[in-house]
Amino acid sequence: MTGTKTTEPLIFDGHNDVLLKLLNAGGTKAASAFVTGDKGHIDLPRAKIGGFGGGFFALYVSSPSEGGDMDEEMRKASYDLPLPTALDQPTSLTVVMEEIAILLRLQDLGALKICHTTDDLRTCFATGKMAAILHMEGAEAIDADLHVLDVLYAAGLRSLGPVWSRPTIFGHGVPFKYPSTGDIGDGLTEAGFRLVKRCNELGVMLDLSHLNEAGFWDIAKTSDAPLVATHSNAYAICPHARNLTDKQLDAIADSDGMVGLNYACAFLRPDGQMRSDVGLEVMLQHLDYLMDRLGEDRVGLGSDFDGAMVPDGITDVAGLPNLRKAMRAHGYNEDLMQKLCHGNWLRVLDKTWGGN
Ligand code: ZN
Repeated sequence: MTGTKTTEPLIFDGHNDVLLKLLNAGGTKAASAFVTGDKGHIDLPRAKIGGFGGGFFALYVSSPSEGGDMDEEMRKASYDLPLPTALDQPTSLTVVMEEIAILLRLQDLGALKICHTTDDLRTCFATGKMAAILHMEGAEAIDADLHVLDVLYAAGLRSLGPVWSRPTIFGHGVPFKYPSTGDIGDGLTEAGFRLVKRCNELGVMLDLSHLNEAGFWDIAKTSDAPLVATHSNAYAICPHARNLTDKQLDAIADSDGMVGLNYACAFLRPDGQMRSDVGLEVMLQHLDYLMDRLGEDRVGLGSDFDGAMVPDGITDVAGLPNLRKAMRAHGYNEDLMQKLCHGNWLRVLDKTWGGN
C-alpha cells in the first residue's frame, strides 16, 4: 500500500457532507474524532490511506421532516420522493454558523486548511495538507438582500449551490425521482438572478448540481462563469432527475465548465436504485461518457461522501485506491489520471475565482 501511496495523484473532491455528519455527532466537540478516526466515510487517518487531498466541504441544513428512510424508497423500481418544504432563513443561518465553526475547529486541530485561492490549494497539494473549500449546498441561510452572502464570502465561502433539492427564495431543485429528467418546476426567482450576479462579482463558484432544468438554463444564460455541477452524473446512463442530460452537458462544455462524478449508487446505476452492490465499471462508464461529451479537461470527481451510499468497491475514503486502480486498468494514462483526480478542479477554479 505504501508503495503506491506516494506516486498516485491526490484526489480532490467536488462534494462531501462531513460537516453535517460532525454537526449531528455533537458539533465542535465531535471535531477531534475526525482527526483520530471517525465513523462514516471521511476522517483524517483514512484520508491519508486513500490519498484524499480534500475538496468542497458543504454547509447544509437538514429539514425537520428529514429522517424518513430515503434510501429505502430509492430501492424501488421507480420513485418520486416528496421534497421537504422551504426552511426559514434565521434558523438556517444558526445551523450554518455552527457548521463553519466545526470547519474552523478542524483547521485549528491541524486536520486541514480552508482554501480561499487556487494558490492555497496548490500549496496544500504540495505539502500533503488536506484542502477544504467552504461550499454551501442550498442558500437557505442567505437573505434576499444578500448581506449574508457578503459576510460569508469574507468568512471564506467560495462556492454556492442556490438550492439543495428543496425550494429556496432563489430557485427550485429537482426531487429524487426516477426515472425522470430534471425538467420539473420553475426557474430562478428575481432574488435568484441577483444571487447569480453577486456570486459572479465576488468570484463565488455556482454549483448547478441540485437545480432543476429551468434553474440550470437561467444560470446558463445569466452567469459569466464556467458552468459547474460538483456532484452529478450522466442521464444517458442513469435516467435520474439528479443527473445531467446531453443538452445540459453540451452547455457545460460550451462554457468550459466541468462535472464531478457522484459516487451515490442511485445516480450511478442504470436502474436508479440505492444499492451498493454495483461494480466500479459503472463509474468508468459515466466517466467515459462525460469525457465524450465534455472533453477530458472538464471532468472530475465529486464523491458525496458522508451524504450518500457509495459502491461496495469503495466503501469509504480509504477505498479510493480501488477507484484509481480501476481507472488505470481501464486505460487512463498518467496525464488523464492527474486531470481527473484534481487537475481539472484547479483549472476550473482558476477560471472561476480569477484574481479574487
Ligand atoms: Zn448533494
